[in-house]
Amino acid sequence: MTESFDDLNLTDNLLRGIYSYGFENPSPIQGKAIPIMNEKKDLIAQAQSGTGKTGAFSIGVLNNIDVSSNTTQVVIINPTHELANQNFNVIKELSNYLDINILSVIGGTDVRKCQSDLSKNPHIVVGTPGRILDMIQKRYLVTENIKMIILDEADEILSYGFKDSIYGIIQYVPKESQICIFSATMPDDVLDLTEKFMVNPERVLVDRENLTLEGILQFYINVKINDWKYETLKDIYDTINVSQCIIYINSKNKLTEINDRLKHDGFPVECIHGELNSDYRKSIMEDFKSGKIRILLSTDLLARGIDIQQLSLVINYDLPRNKETYIHRIGRSGRYGRKGVSINFVTDRDMEHQNEISSFYN
Ligand code: ADP
Ligand code: MG
Repeated sequence: MTESFDDLNLTDNLLRGIYSYGFENPSPIQGKAIPIMNEKKDLIAQAQSGTGKTGAFSIGVLNNIDVSSNTTQVVIINPTHELANQNFNVIKELSNYLDINILSVIGGTDVRKCQSDLSKNPHIVVGTPGRILDMIQKRYLVTENIKMIILDEADEILSYGFKDSIYGIIQYVPKESQICIFSATMPDDVLDLTEKFMVNPERVLVDRENLTLEGILQFYINVKINDWKYETLKDIYDTINVSQCIIYINSKNKLTEINDRLKHDGFPVECIHGELNSDYRKSIMEDFKSGKIRILLSTDLLARGIDIQQLSLVINYDLPRNKETYIHRIGRSGRYGRKGVSINFVTDRDMEHQNEISSFYN
């Protein structure tokens, strides 16, 4: 295991950025992934939630930019606006002492501004699949000097909804570009898929039993039937109000309904989902990050990647539909070794699914 960032062949000004950001030593995934990225190899990197994957690819990317060339060299692709914004901010901070231009290219933002910003050939583009592909196809984003593509939450990005955009983007970049993919979960079908576009990737993989973090205590409450979930939530409200909390509800309609009901009953909560407008989503995220919002209801829009250190409780008002989503949702708490708690509301009909999750993750 790498003991120090000083041993990772990083440029001096990048090291300054890392230390002033507050990182002291590399996490295990950082120690493993950064050398592979430095060697220009393709990489499949899996590590538990909250263990520093963003830092890993951000440092790997920043260390490999040729600042003397005013060209776009790296594209970092993320599944949601929220995660793209967050990753943009981390890279920006880490690059504080470097002369590197970074641009976010995110759906729902002003297209004209995006086009004119791209004409300055930012070294690094961080964004979401649809907007990036659109900018490439319209030739605002020049791809001929791209040498690295990063997929964060890769299994999500390679799932049904995004797959075509990703293949589209990959078609436009030079064949020899390096592709590095990151996620806490790498289901077999995704690993199979990677063979289509990656060349002899180095693999850093974790067994599924080891995916759960010791710092996160996981509970369920048998609420018998769906109709009793709401009263249960109100019953435990005083307990959950002690910390910052995300409550996951599977559908947008139900989310809106519960949000309205809670507000009507005098509980100060807010909600977020993918069909709200971009600016509103951004302001909700800012208020949640600053702690102004304590309890946030969300669909799976925030299931992945979001990093809020004070967030210590996750409630699955509805059980997630798949096993991967479960581990991502509960991983919003317990960041970087902190303690967290998760509580599932389970109806009698959900019991079998609950048992599957329990045994899958040991
Ligand atoms: P992941 O993507 O693996 O879920 P993140 O990259 O979001 O995790 O990192 C989780 C948290 O850990 C962040 O708050 C980040 O600032 C912190 N972190 C990451 N790497 C280090 C490090 N080397 N030292 C200290 N804190 C770190
Ligand atoms: Mg992450």
